[in-house]
Amino acid sequence: MRKQIVAGNWKMNNDLAQTETLITDLKNQTKTSNAEVMIAPTFTNLWQAYQTLKDHDIEVIAQNMHFAENGAYTGEISASMLKSIGVNTVILGHSERREYFNETDELLAKKVDAALANDIRVIFCFGEELADRKSKNHENVVGSQIKNGLFHLKADAFKNIVLAYEPVWAIGTGETASPEQAQDMHAFIRKTLADQYGKDVADSVSILYGGSVKPANANEIFSKPDVDGGLIGGAALQADDFYAIVNAF
Ligand code: PGA
Repeated sequence: MRKQIVAGNWKMNNDLAQTETLITDLKNQTKTSNAEVMIAPTFTNLWQAYQTLKDHDIEVIAQNMHFAENGAYTGEISASMLKSIGVNTVILGHSERREYFNETDELLAKKVDAALANDIRVIFCFGEELADRKSKNHENVVGSQIKNGLFHLKADAFKNIVLAYEPVWAIGTGETASPEQAQDMHAFIRKTLADQYGKDVADSVSILYGGSVKPANANEIFSKPDVDGGLIGGAALQADDFYAIVNAF
């Protein structure tokens, strides 16, 4: 059985005090699903979050990292630094990183390698823009993001890869892909994996949907057979909304 996962991407939100408050609120929630729950605070609050949640089943994960092990990369954070404070999962390739920080498929492939070399699980994000969907090019775009970022890996590496399909036009816009659009794309992604690595690998990889997931639409999206959970932005900043989504399976 594939893992069900709900990960909260806090983006550049919440200072230290706000992080502590939200974590306290999250600890007061009750989980009724089998989903693995993760939160991704900012780098400056990761250690505090990790300490506060050490004995809790919420995993603290990072939003990004650099590919180099250490050295002259002012302002950057390495995989081993994350690992040294208890972080075992990192989000890579979020569309905001691709768009505002010029992260290319080639760069992301290096980041994936660095994470895996440090035994850090990767949530690898990709998704088409509205123009791609309008021109019916969305499968080509998503297919090439996956191939360029991941297909240099051996099949075995996919034990530590989670995929996150996030159509750019649905992120933070209130516009969600319909459950059918999500399912169609997730089935395409799984077939792309199966063609390269075989059905067993394809069937074992969790594929999350992200883009305006809310308590009101989570259940319908998560009920689709190839949707294994969600990467949640805005709705992850309120504990009760986030847990309504965690419990929406
Ligand atoms: P959103 O963000 O839920 O606010 O649309 C999702 C994401 O960017 O991961």
